[in-house]
Amino acid sequence: MVHVGCHCGHFFKVPASQAGKACTCMRCGWAIRLIAPRLDEGAEEKAVCLLVSAGPADVGTQFYLAGPGPVSVGKSRERDLQLVDAKVSRLHCRLLRSEQGWRVEDADSTNGVWVNGARVETHELCHGDKLRIGDTELTCVTPTRTAQPANDAGLSSPVRVVEVKRKPAPAGGDVFDSEGLRRRGSGGQAAD
Ligand SMILES: [Zn+2]
Repeated sequence: MVHVGCHCGHFFKVPASQAGKACTCMRCGWAIRLIAPRLDEGAEEKAVCLLVSAGPADVGTQFYLAGPGPVSVGKSRERDLQLVDAKVSRLHCRLLRSEQGWRVEDADSTNGVWVNGARVETHELCHGDKLRIGDTELTCVTPTRTAQPANDAGLSSPVRVVEVKRKPAPAGGDVFDSEGLRRRGSGGQAAD
């Protein structure tokens, strides 16, 4: 099971078998995609989130990285993480496992990999980093319940660093409860 923390503050588990497919947060209805090539079926781990915070497509989608990696990122359909963006190269970059979490590495892309406004060859991704690939901006969010300062409501939300201007369309796909069990009646409806 992979533990994911949605931007809305809802934590739940997604089975390893769901890797590569779309699913939906049962609380807020936003899209979640588990990107976990070569993830061991029995693995238990906390996924790191890359939330599409701006771009031509997929705004609001939360990509969750898990497994041993590496994760290929690019425009081509055969990439582990596909971005529909004209300025993204077919193979743009790779996300590699590191001791701390994940590291991004440019794969000789045309338009480069940018983190927090600076072009990088490689960079260790930290909570709150803004990763720009083509015209797509992804905000890195680490799903810890305790590492975050409490917000105004006294609740710890995993993605306080993210501002998404418009709410994305419902994602469809499966809905999983906090124990990773598939719920009936999926289709992107908020459960609250
Ligand atoms: Zn949510």
